[in-house]
Amino acid sequence: MSAPGRLRGARLLLGAAVLLAACGPRPEPFHQQRILAFGTLVDVSLWEVDEDRAEEAFHVLGQELNWMHDAWHAWRPSAVTTLNRQLQSGEPFVPDPATLPLVDISTDFALKSGHLFNPAIGKLIALWGYQADEPGKTPPDPALIADLVRQDPRMDDIRHDGSNLRGRNPAVQLDFGGFAKGYGVDRAMERLQAMGIRNAMVAAAGDIRVIGRRGDRAWRIGIRHPRQAGAIASLDMEGDENISTSGDYERYFEYEGRRYHHIIDPRIGYPAQGTASVTVVSHNGALADAAATGLFVAGPREWRATAARLGVDQVMLVATDGTVYMTPRMAERVRFEVTPPPVVLVVP
Ligand code: ADP
Ligand code: MG
Repeated sequence: MSAPGRLRGARLLLGAAVLLAACGPRPEPFHQQRILAFGTLVDVSLWEVDEDRAEEAFHVLGQELNWMHDAWHAWRPSAVTTLNRQLQSGEPFVPDPATLPLVDISTDFALKSGHLFNPAIGKLIALWGYQADEPGKTPPDPALIADLVRQDPRMDDIRHDGSNLRGRNPAVQLDFGGFAKGYGVDRAMERLQAMGIRNAMVAAAGDIRVIGRRGDRAWRIGIRHPRQAGAIASLDMEGDENISTSGDYERYFEYEGRRYHHIIDPRIGYPAQGTASVTVVSHNGALADAAATGLFVAGPREWRATAARLGVDQVMLVATDGTVYMTPRMAERVRFEVTPPPVVLVVP
């Protein structure tokens, strides 16, 4: 949750993911509502649902999204900040069921990504000023960064002793901002499906899940251009799928002519260099979100091997030099929305 509570507004909403499909004429029975959660407006679109059920669905999702927002908040008092205190103590404790699945799932992705996706670096994220509604304005003291990197907080510093957890590295501070929205849109969609809804889209800025179709066509998603207004590309979603985009344009500050954004390379403690955005398509929202963040850190040289280890095969990475790298499966379905199209490297 990169900026909970703060309404980043229409620019962001139409930002990481430009919802092309939602813009045209809207024949009934189409229902749409925007719900504030995770520091953004979560866009919920329902197709072929009657008015009453749509109202009920928006009400249920409002509660569910609020619950997730409050429980997983990285810096306001929440189940996650309690968990961080318990881990810090080094004593065994019984984990709160509100956070345990996030620990388990994100540990798996952290290990597979070689800890390029690493939710244990909350202290670094806070040091950079990204555990606040407004980002910092100057880079932190290099000595403080080096000190945290040296302490090497990792997800496998969290020990499972039977049904207890125990922290064994006081530098570990969890921040699930890199994957909670992707995980959250899946949970939200499960609620809709339990209500019998079969055609829907839940879009939390750059993290989107769709099910079914938008009437007689597929849900079409635009991928935001990292350096100009509008979409760089679009694609039609096939059935139940997720798409997540991480970009260096979401949260950043500029200092002495350089951009310092919110995706930190845990190996060096500084914002990852070389990537402008990464998009991942998957059937699992938590994985799509975690992978987008991890592959952003991996960058143009290491993304392909890291994607293979994470088990994602639909990836598009836009490098800071404008080159677009894609897997073959992504290349098959992406349609560029810019002319001339960018230089593309398809990497098997
Ligand atoms: P967004 O929140 O804009 O959708 P991301 O999914 O990439 O974008 O999440 C960025 C957030 O993830 C940061 O604000 C921070 O909370 C967290 N984060 C930053 N670097 C990492 C990293 N290397 N691994 C895991 N989480 C990270
Ligand atoms: Mg992410």
